[in-house]
Amino acid sequence: MIRSLLFSLVCLTSFAQELPVKALVGGTLIDGYGSTPIQNSVIIIEGEMIKAIGTIETLDIPENADIISTEGMSVLPGLWDMHVHTMINGHADYSYWDKVYPPILEDVIMPSSAEQLLMAGVTSARDLGAPLKESISVRDRINNGEIPGATLYVSGPFIQKKPYPGTEAFRWGINGVEDAKNKIKKLADAGVDCVKLIDQDQMTKAELKAVVDTAHKYNLKVVAHGHRPQEIRMGLQAGVDCFEHTGLSSAPRYPDDVMEAIKERTAQMNLGPLFWCPTVEGLFNYEYVRDNGEHLDNDSWHRGLHDTIIADIKNSFRHKDRLPYFQLTPVRKPTLETKIKQLINAGVVLMIGTDSGIPMKFHSQSTWNELDVWVNEFGIDPMYAIRAATYWPSLWMGVSNEVGTVTEGKYADIIAVKGDVLRHIDLLQDVDIVIKHGKQYK
Ligand SMILES: [Zn+2]
Repeated sequence: MIRSLLFSLVCLTSFAQELPVKALVGGTLIDGYGSTPIQNSVIIIEGEMIKAIGTIETLDIPENADIISTEGMSVLPGLWDMHVHTMINGHADYSYWDKVYPPILEDVIMPSSAEQLLMAGVTSARDLGAPLKESISVRDRINNGEIPGATLYVSGPFIQKKPYPGTEAFRWGINGVEDAKNKIKKLADAGVDCVKLIDQDQMTKAELKAVVDTAHKYNLKVVAHGHRPQEIRMGLQAGVDCFEHTGLSSAPRYPDDVMEAIKERTAQMNLGPLFWCPTVEGLFNYEYVRDNGEHLDNDSWHRGLHDTIIADIKNSFRHKDRLPYFQLTPVRKPTLETKIKQLINAGVVLMIGTDSGIPMKFHSQSTWNELDVWVNEFGIDPMYAIRAATYWPSLWMGVSNEVGTVTEGKYADIIAVKGDVLRHIDLLQDVDIVIKHGKQYK
């Protein structure tokens, strides 16, 4: 007994000595929980994990450590984007894209999106709506270390009443309660991480309940569109776990009965927080992008894409002012701040999500823009915004004891950027250091 204990101790120690050790030294650490940042921080990374956290004064740096200076930088958990679409990449014509690109989603488009996210400091992302086999394959190859990319949590196909013509590969229709149960079981068996619902106001209440209850039976949370008042009402009744978008088109605010229903839900502590990704930056910044848009020529979004694909995407928004997708956006824009504040005041917990991949919105640029609009346009506290891009998403995904904050014993998903992000959140547009699971990618 003692001998085997000794033996395993020896094994453990010698194994530990072989793991590469990194020390991030000097920067101001914002750990993701939301409290006062730690100045002159030291983070010791051993292999994939965070081993110890302290300050230059309090923590000894192991002799074998590879020292990475973070002097003058903000150090924070790798960001999360809770609403991305890796199967698209800024092309403005969806019906064309859905005809031409499906054969290379798995090997080119989705991996390129995931890598672009990673290089932008987004170490985890919730991918909401793509073909099932491709979603699982890309996620698993990233997790196995075969290809670089943000850790993906995938929904696979959209679940809705009826797929739009030509989108059947990544939108599954629901016809009746049994069909709902079967399709959700099929997703669960394939290994998705959550379920994405849209147009749930077109389903019967029984179908919707079957979708949500079956998902919950398999420990899958349900993300639902909140574009129309009835989608929100029915979603709340059925018990969905997160709403998406700042919807209701150009209507000035959420109606009173919807707000009452939301407050009824947020009043129930036993159900946990009500989560919401408002995904505002694509809408808020549309006019700016239309009239300026030099950043569209930035090659950060070319990573992983062949020249012909880049040209095809560029060509699709040659006339940025004529895109049907954004026809009504200028009318919606002034309503966004009111709606986002209604949600905050009702006790909803907002998370950073962007709809990245929609026309002219690239995975290399979306996430910091969402943070920027929240903080610099809507006056949201920067620490609240950072928490909404780190701690809360990991909690929602059920992995908060593994990632989401810079904490001893968690995976080392850490970014660093020169300057003070609490003062200037837009510094996040150019992160200097990206580490995922202990490996430095930037
Ligand atoms: Zn979306």
